[in-house]
Amino acid sequence: MKWIDSHAHLDDRAFERDRAAVITRCADAAMGILTIGSSLHSSQAAVSLARRYHDMWATVGVHPHNATSLDGAALKDLKTLAQDKLVVGIGEIGLDYYRDLSPRDRQRSVFARQLDLATELGLPICLHNRESTDDFVAILRDAGAQHRGVVHSFLGDEALAVQFLELGLHLGVGGPLTYPKNETLRAAIKHVPLDRILLETDCPYLTPVPYRGRRNEPIYVSYVAEEIAQLKGLSVDDVAQQTTVNAMRLFELDG
Ligand SMILES: [Zn+2]
Repeated sequence: MKWIDSHAHLDDRAFERDRAAVITRCADAAMGILTIGSSLHSSQAAVSLARRYHDMWATVGVHPHNATSLDGAALKDLKTLAQDKLVVGIGEIGLDYYRDLSPRDRQRSVFARQLDLATELGLPICLHNRESTDDFVAILRDAGAQHRGVVHSFLGDEALAVQFLELGLHLGVGGPLTYPKNETLRAAIKHVPLDRILLETDCPYLTPVPYRGRRNEPIYVSYVAEEIAQLKGLSVDDVAQQTTVNAMRLFELDG
């Protein structure tokens, strides 16, 4: 594998009509994919996709938007699903106080419960945090001083990057790095060691320039790599290679 898109939602409806073609384009580019669950249903779909395609793995978890759906029975089903050998992580899990689609206390308890599940199963975590950093960091600290995982779609400044790195986490970097207004993000990523960065798309969302405004798909992760290479004075190949190694190590992928 030359590339890994560490955060794709290939079960999304946006890929209904041409999913196989999107995945073929990845195979042609020697790209591995982690397809990410966001509800019990989408986690099941992610595992099915990983079974069907080569160089594809799944994570399973309930996104904060869907926090109210994680009752005891769903947690039990999630745990069973998480033990499939193609499941390489728990996520995406976390907090979202920007859209606030679930009550915040419920988001917090569902996040903590899934962190416990990851610890119990020895799986890395795939994290979502939007305008909820204080509670997010507090819950992570409560669950342990060090974590194995990635803060997906990192959008913060350098101080926040340092805070996450100190917790042992990697940073997932995607399309927003290419958006003109995100100078603060670019300044932060410039100083994050390359061995702590994962490439991601979050497709079908967050399409990088020059395709911004259209549906995103995994192969566009190369535009994110180009931006990182430019910031750090490296070649795109260096960025592709190191971020692939990072993802393979973190999620214990066998390429
Ligand atoms: Zn996502």
